[in-house]
Amino acid sequence: KAKRSGKSNCLFYTIQMKEELLARNNIETVLREALKNDGFKLVYQPYMSSQTGEAAGYEALIRLKNHNIPPSVFIPVAEECGLIINIGRYVTYEAVSQLRKWKQQGYEPKPISLNFSCKQLKDTQYVECLKKILKDNEIEPEYIEIEITESILLEKAESTMDFLYNLKNMGIKIALDDFGTGFSSLNYLTYIPMNKVKLDKSLIDKFFELNNLSAVENIISLAHSLNFQITAEGIEELKQYESLRNIDCDYFQGYYFSKPLEVIEIEKIYFNKQE
Ligand code: C2E
Ligand code: MG
Ligand code: MG
Ligand code: MG
Repeated sequence: KAKRSGKSNCLFYTIQMKEELLARNNIETVLREALKNDGFKLVYQPYMSSQTGEAAGYEALIRLKNHNIPPSVFIPVAEECGLIINIGRYVTYEAVSQLRKWKQQGYEPKPISLNFSCKQLKDTQYVECLKKILKDNEIEPEYIEIEITESILLEKAESTMDFLYNLKNMGIKIALDDFGTGFSSLNYLTYIPMNKVKLDKSLIDKFFELNNLSAVENIISLAHSLNFQITAEGIEELKQYESLRNIDCDYFQGYYFSKPLEVIEIEKIYFNKQE
């Protein structure tokens, strides 16, 4: 077998790195442009209540209007270049405005969850900004839930805890997203002010693969004993829904129920709005 020389290896990596840098810079340009020219939109994915079988609320997920770049690609770039702060503010403003529009149209709005990157902690004005947006739109804080991931907690910094308590004290709900992808220390669940734990799709899939639902059942009963509710993410099949409902899971989200939808589709399907 031919052995690659160190030199060509080095060249290879240099070209690759250059391409990545170019791609990254292009994405950054796209994001700047989108912030300036109304190039983002939100789609909404319902989560269903096991009690009622109906949508209990919606998760707001950001999209670029004119590009096919998914958030899993552009959010990390936005975090790296700091644009995530303005993107986070846009998402907050857009979602709360949507709640106001629904209220004005006579629909009883349901809560909206917002994804919050740990880099948004740098936005020291965020809580004030959220308060103002809620007040301007006459929306109660109970209608907003903030989804954080455990990466936000790794440092256990005092400022992070202050931030979370400020949200809690103003009446905002907090959910721990993607549980089961990182360290998933149950320890986190005991010291952060939280309302909900979202079990990641990968964790759900893994336990179904292993045919071991008792592990999930244990996580759910532990969370319940700490007064958190549980959402199972990434439900794609009826049998997943049924077995998780049997072990007391509170909410369900996934393609089995609905993909993320445009506002107009949410209104048609979940509000029975006529055109
Ligand atoms: P997430 O918060 O864990 O959101 C769940 C992701 O899984 C969404 O992808 C959703 O479309 C997808 N999903 C939902 N149900 C299913 C299913 O049954 N099967 C499969 N295969 N996938 C499902 P999306 O919209 O591409 O978002 C990816 C990630 O990007 C989100 O993960 C979140 O971390 C981040 N993100 C999205 N919108 C925002 C935002 O406004 N702000 C921030 N900071 N992050 C965001
Ligand atoms: Mg989420
Ligand atoms: Mg998630
Ligand atoms: Mg996830």
